[in-house]
Order: sequence, then structure tokens, then C-alpha cells
Amino acid sequence: MAEQFDVIVIGAGPAGYHAAIRAAQLGLKTACIDAALGKDGKPALGGTCLRVGCIPSKALLDSSRQFWNLTHLFGEHGITAKDPQIDVGAMIGRKDKIVKQFTGGIAMLFKANKVTPYYGFGQLQPGNVVTVKQHDGSTVELKGTNVIIAAGSDGRGAQAQIDRIVTGWRLRRVAEPMIVNLDAQTPEKILTLKQVGKAERDAAKHLGQALSAGIALGVF
Ligand SMILES: Cc1cc2nc3c(=O)[nH]c(=O)nc-3n(C[C@H](O)[C@H](O)[C@H](O)COP(=O)(O)OP(=O)(O)OC[C@H]3O[C@@H](n4cnc5c(N)ncnc54)[C@H](O)[C@@H]3O)c2cc1C
Repeated sequence: MAEQFDVIVIGAGPAGYHAAIRAAQLGLKTACIDAALGKDGKPALGGTCLRVGCIPSKALLDSSRQFWNLTHLFGEHGITAKDPQIDVGAMIGRKDKIVKQFTGGIAMLFKANKVTPYYGFGQLQPGNVVTVKQHDGSTVELKGTNVIIAAGSDGRGAQAQIDRIVTGWRLRRVAEPMIVNLDAQTPEKILTLKQVGKAERDAAKHLGQALSAGIALGVF
């Protein structure tokens, strides 16, 4: 039998993990599903931002800035080094360590805030049921009063979900975040953020910018 949650979030990137943590803090029984694996082959929460985007790129930029400072600025301070070299392996290793710390941090935040994580591919089924194909091959079924899709810009997840609801629509054609009202299930009822009122926009922001990706299903 499907386990019942007040909120099920598909995707644990910045949109999804904020939404899940906030929902749990507001007292809602919350699950968050993510399919991603880290470099070590283990589940890694945090989405594009923590795994391959913002955080790793800034870690590498920081390393290259240190090198630039050494070769361009340190001389002014009377600091010199002979024939400085870059050990790319060490630089990448530092970056990987930072990514591991950050993605592990999300798992700890989930634990602290009582968000139940599911590691695998989530798919929205009729009736607010979400099936999760877990990494060990097993499938679990969850049922949510509300389902938030925060699958990022990777069409792998979100587009499949949207196609189930709005035949023929393609997520990549939607230029801006939108709110999907699960009651409606017709293209005309899909509202973009520009079209919805201030109250809904504020509510969306309150849900941890779940709409940055951004689709919230059945929340409003
Ligand atoms: C190189 C790079 C650098 C960046 N630097 C910055 C920066 O400095 N500042 C900034 O603000 N932004 C930056 N970004 C953008 C930022 O990473 C994204 O805006 C942000 O990650 C979007 O968050 P999200 O939660 O919407 O989606 P994502 O972070 O993409 O998370 C979506 C998650 O959903 C999961 N998922 C998708 N479908 C399913 C499914 N069906 N079942 C289970 N899980 C699923 C994915 O595995 C993923 O973990 C950068 C991006 C890149 C690529």
C-alpha cells in the first residue's frame, strides 16, 4: 500500500530541497525524491547546483584564483615562488571533497527537519500517486496530498511528468516558471508566474522558490 504524505517533492536541487524542508518545518509530513548519484556512485542530494554547477565551479574558480594571485599579485607583497605548478588532480580532489560535504549536508538537513528521502527516479501517476524506482531496482509507491515537481531544467524528469498531464506541451517551450493546478489538468488552466497574483507568487517564494525550475503541482 502507498505510504501517505502531505507533500511529496520530486527533485532535491535548490528548489526541491528548500521546498521539502520548509514544508516539513510547517508541520507537513514530507518526502523528497532524487535520482542523482555522486561521483562515488552513492545518492547525492542538492541537484545541479551542488553536484555539478554552482558549488564545484566556484571551488575550481577559487583554486585558479589562488594560482593567479600567486603569479600576479604576491610579488607586490614580497612573496615569490619558483616555477609554480598546478596539480589538476589535487584541485579536482579538493572540489570533490567540497561537493561531498555539501551534498551530505542536505541529507543531514533532511534528517534534522524530518524530511523522508527517497533515492531513485520518481514518476507522477494519476491520483497524486508517485512511484519511485529505487537504485536497488525495487519500486515504492507514495501518495501525496500535494506533489511538487522540482525536477530542474533536465527534461528527463519534468518533461515526462508534464506530458502525462498536458498532452503535447513541452517543458522546454515554457519560457518562465509556472504553476500547475492539479484540479485543472488542461493547458488553459496553467498559469505562468506573471499571470498569478501577488499572494500566489509570495506563497511560491515561501515554498523555497520551488518554482525556480519550476512547477508546483496541487499546492495552491
Ligand atoms: C556550471 C554551472 C554553474 C552554475 N552556477 C550558478 C551560480 O553561481 N549561481 C546560481 O544561482 N546558479 C548557478 N547555476 C544554476 C543552478 O545550478 C540552477 O539554477 C539550480 O541548480 C536549479 O535548481 P533546481 O532545484 O531547479 O534544479 P536542479 O538543481 O537541476 O535539481 C533537480 C533535481 O531533480 C532531480 N530529478 C529530476 N527528475 C527527477 C525524477 N523524475 N525523479 C527523481 N529525481 C529527479 C535531479 O536528479 C536533480 O537532482 C549554475 C549551473 C551550472 C550548470
